[in-house]
Amino acid sequence: MTETGHGSDVQSLETTATYDPATQEFVIHSPTPSARKDYIGGAALHAEVATVFASRHERREPRRALLRRAAARQAGNDLPGVTTSDDGHKGGLGAVDNGRIMFDQVRIPRENLLNKYGDVDEDGTYSSPIDNVNRRFFTMLGTLIRGRVSVGGSASAATEVALSIAGRYALKRRQFSEGPGQEVLLMDYRMHQRRLLPLIARSYAYRFAQNQLVARMDRLQSTDTPDPQESRELEGRAAGLKAAQTWHATRAIQEAREACGGAGYLAENRLTTLKGDTDVFTTFEGDNHVLFQPSPRSC
Ligand SMILES: Cc1cc2nc3c(=O)[nH]c(=O)nc-3n(C[C@H](O)[C@H](O)[C@H](O)COP(=O)(O)OP(=O)(O)OC[C@H]3O[C@@H](n4cnc5c(N)ncnc54)[C@H](O)[C@@H]3O)c2cc1C
Repeated sequence: MTETGHGSDVQSLETTATYDPATQEFVIHSPTPSARKDYIGGAALHAEVATVFASRHERREPRRALLRRAAARQAGNDLPGVTTSDDGHKGGLGAVDNGRIMFDQVRIPRENLLNKYGDVDEDGTYSSPIDNVNRRFFTMLGTLIRGRVSVGGSASAATEVALSIAGRYALKRRQFSEGPGQEVLLMDYRMHQRRLLPLIARSYAYRFAQNQLVARMDRLQSTDTPDPQESRELEGRAAGLKAAQTWHATRAIQEAREACGGAGYLAENRLTTLKGDTDVFTTFEGDNHVLFQPSPRSC
């Protein structure tokens, strides 16, 4: 979805999909350098197929955003018209090869269109079960809800790991003496309790909220005709909770790292990896500040 020129503002993405009725194919194209797909998971090396978010381009028709599936690579090589490159080293998540993709008039069959909310028939006529263009766009973005719920859940899991490491350390580690042979346990310092316990309490609250959200999402997405009002409410809740959980993770993991002193900075104790891997959670699957706005527009 994301392009070099636009991330949060998904509606302004520039990649085009133009239908050719003669061959019944879509032509996927990156018309400008800023239309290059960027940060895409797997695009630098391992992925072979991509789901590409593009605007439909048709004579005298308004632009509409659509999703299409396009083969990108075969036997490790870019297919004709596809150019991929590496985003390079990141601040974390080193196991995923994020990269860039440019399309030069790449043709894919009409059947590859992901057509739940909009379809194109053989002669190129567009149809959709949702008349209102904006409602259609936001309904389509609503399908991204699972990614947000997963990122929020991962942030909560990482926070719980970090705080349990810091908690166990505080219940073993002793510093300074109150008298001969009476070194004080870190957790017996009120300052240490005030640093860790509110974060632990908040983590429980987010865990309960996450479990409730997942159950609600499962119930709603298991029906063939989900209630639109309930769907919008779920999207809002998922966006808000994702932002709250990921900001909490960034703060709590840093606190846990400091609460373990120098040991917290050693890679073998995992806290630096947890920090590096969760930092970007506040940005991807929707930047937190953008998600907090009344009408979420981000990916
Ligand atoms: C490791 C990684 C993996 C990723 N994986 C993928 C992937 O697989 N597929 C994919 O499609 N994308 C992926 N992304 C892209 C990610 O979704 C975007 O980076 C994200 O949506 C933010 O877009 P941006 O980087 O263009 O930031 P911008 O949109 O430029 O935002 C920059 C800053 O401006 C602020 N801002 C923007 N708009 C507003 C506004 N209206 N009001 C107030 N403040 C605003 C934001 O809060 C932010 O702080 C990935 C990114 C990273 C770093």
